[in-house]
Amino acid sequence: MRWLHGYLILCALAAAIVVHDLVPIAGRLQLRLPAADAGFVYLGFIVSLAVLGHILPGKSFVGTQLADGTRLQYKCNGLLLTLVCVSVLAVATWLGLIPGDWIVDRYSELFVAANLFALTVSVYLFAKGRMLRPKDSPLWSRGIFDDFVMGAELNPFIFGVNVKFFSYRPAMTGWLLINLSFLYRHYILLGFVTMRMLMYQLLSAWYIIDYFVHEPKMVSTWDIIAEHFGLMLVWGDYVFIVFAFSLQNFFLVNDVHPLHWLHALAICVVFACGFAIFRGANSQKHQFKMNSQAPIWGKTPSTVGGKLLVSGFWGLARHMNYTGDLLLALSFCMPCDTRSSLPYFYFIYLLVLIVHREKRDDDRCSLKYKELWQKYCSLVPYRMVPYVY
Ligand code: NDP
Repeated sequence: MRWLHGYLILCALAAAIVVHDLVPIAGRLQLRLPAADAGFVYLGFIVSLAVLGHILPGKSFVGTQLADGTRLQYKCNGLLLTLVCVSVLAVATWLGLIPGDWIVDRYSELFVAANLFALTVSVYLFAKGRMLRPKDSPLWSRGIFDDFVMGAELNPFIFGVNVKFFSYRPAMTGWLLINLSFLYRHYILLGFVTMRMLMYQLLSAWYIIDYFVHEPKMVSTWDIIAEHFGLMLVWGDYVFIVFAFSLQNFFLVNDVHPLHWLHALAICVVFACGFAIFRGANSQKHQFKMNSQAPIWGKTPSTVGGKLLVSGFWGLARHMNYTGDLLLALSFCMPCDTRSSLPYFYFIYLLVLIVHREKRDDDRCSLKYKELWQKYCSLVPYRMVPYVY
């Protein structure tokens, strides 16, 4: 109960901060239905990623065991795919086939196209999941809300594509392409690239490329092994990550305020700490799931019952990977100045999402591991930040 009250206060504060700055500009937002070419480009982008993902070479990895005892194969060639997409955009711009800031020009149409696409996919997955569900399935009694929003199937396939694993690709690549298009517009407008824009571009590109470099480690994350795929994740992947994570661009595109070197240093420190924690914690857990004896920080890992890792970052707090992700999100927002809270939307949103997610994961692990989880919690009492939370 105490947790719930604290969480509601956090949500109310976050909403108040964002609404305070969003309301004055809401009237200026002009959403347009996508013209045929914008809709075609959007669909072409998604279909090309799916087709190229199938054709281009990539190493396949076997996932962790799912609740039904099966293991899926994941072909991890996302990095190559992203490089192909960026190269195509660069060459097309260089040849004068499209302006480098075409995405910025058509931003609102692409945003509407992405929403329509996400809604269509969610309805399809809902209908497919319900129709194909055997009568004796334990999921038979799930309500419409659960099946539509939280997802009817754990791992739905469309035309042989594992849609949940695939959908991170348009999400992360889409975010990168929007960033690059804004970078181009920024350069055209100012004739140079500001330190603020450069830092945002470099840090977020690092995060996106790092995601693809470590794509095989996704196969042991909670999303992949336990979350059903419905509107919540579909909308998150096709709309939210792409358009909300890139909001900072609107504030940086014509901002010429100089960046003090101390501010730049603070951004680098927050990013470096966030990255070390985020990548370190996720890698340690992945390594532990693959080989529970592999050394962590030079020592054989301590565990609870051989199933829960108590060494490395997982011995400092129970979800340091979330803490690292939050620091990274903050570092992507920090290059913007503080006249509005909207460039910090990514960080505020992630804070609200991650605190709730940590609680849900805690409940899930408590059900799954029972007394082992209680023992782990007594050994590692902090959720996300040692000695604080
Ligand atoms: P995790 O990768 O942290 O997975 C949680 C699962 O790990 C648990 O359900 C449990 O599953 C296992 N686990 C928990 N504690 C331990 C332990 N001590 N030892 C061994 N296994 C343990 O969760 P997510 O999938 O939520 O997150 C993965 C990454 O993605 C994070 O870095 C997160 O920040 C990021 N993320 C980013 C979002 C964004 O919008 N930017 C949104 C969501 C996530 P099991 O049953 O396998 O034991």
